[in-house]
Amino acid sequence: MILVLGGTGEARDLARRLVAGAVEEGGSVVPRRRVVSSLAGRVSSPALPAGEVRIGGFGGVDGLAQWLRDNDVRAVIDATHPFARRITQNAFEACQQVGVPLLVLRRPGFEPRPGWTWVDSVAEAARSLPGERVFLTTGRQDLAEFAGCPQWFLARMVEPPEPPLPHRIEVLLARGPFTVDGELELMRSRAVDVLVTKDSGGPMTSAKLDAAEQLGIPVVVVRRPPLPPAEVVASVDDAVSWSGTAGV
Ligand code: NAP
Repeated sequence: MILVLGGTGEARDLARRLVAGAVEEGGSVVPRRRVVSSLAGRVSSPALPAGEVRIGGFGGVDGLAQWLRDNDVRAVIDATHPFARRITQNAFEACQQVGVPLLVLRRPGFEPRPGWTWVDSVAEAARSLPGERVFLTTGRQDLAEFAGCPQWFLARMVEPPEPPLPHRIEVLLARGPFTVDGELELMRSRAVDVLVTKDSGGPMTSAKLDAAEQLGIPVVVVRRPPLPPAEVVASVDDAVSWSGTAGV
């Protein structure tokens, strides 16, 4: 059995292909797998992956290690979001503890553009906002970092946020993908003058970057947290190939 740590579009893609079995370039066949996808349970009606699904935390490194043993897991693919830092570190430590092969699937970051300001954390972004009307797309879990800021915020997220929140805020509940036209319209209608984003990468959320560029709006980009020293691939194709060679 392969455990896919999910919560992303890539993780759903991967689960679908592993469950179906895949024919690789050159004709070699990656056989069908028993796949269990794991979701954190943050979103109330998540898009469910193919195969079996479990929802909720494991209880830290030890809980995950125990789960790997109890379920005779042969390989783990961490396909979580680039900013889901804790689960990635936990997976690395638990897999080492139990001796299970681990692969990290991480999509490439955004192609850097001239004039972007790069910061190491959301907190640093909050301290260095080059504008007064901020389009915030970092997600609900990071909103508290902006609570003390005097600026006005348009904050877009999937689920409603919990306090503390900035005093001056409009919350927009929406799930991507978004279009450049839609983002232009949104930013113009709210007179946004700065965009804050994480370096999530991927096409689902890149339209806002084009829109900001067209409008000449400064962009603050939060760098990704560092990865543990695990094997990393950037595409679902490579993860499928790895599963065929991991001796699963
Ligand atoms: P996190 O800080 O790395 O994880 C916090 C805790 O949530 C982990 O210690 C773990 O609990 C549990 N958890 C996280 N991912 C899990 C998974 N796939 N299956 C089971 N338990 C999981 O992660 P996060 O930033 O809260 O993100 C949670 C999930 O949302 C991730 O699966 C991620 O792929 C997805 N997501 C995150 C973002 C983002 O910007 N952070 C954006 C889009 C999607 P235990 O220690 O109890 O095991």
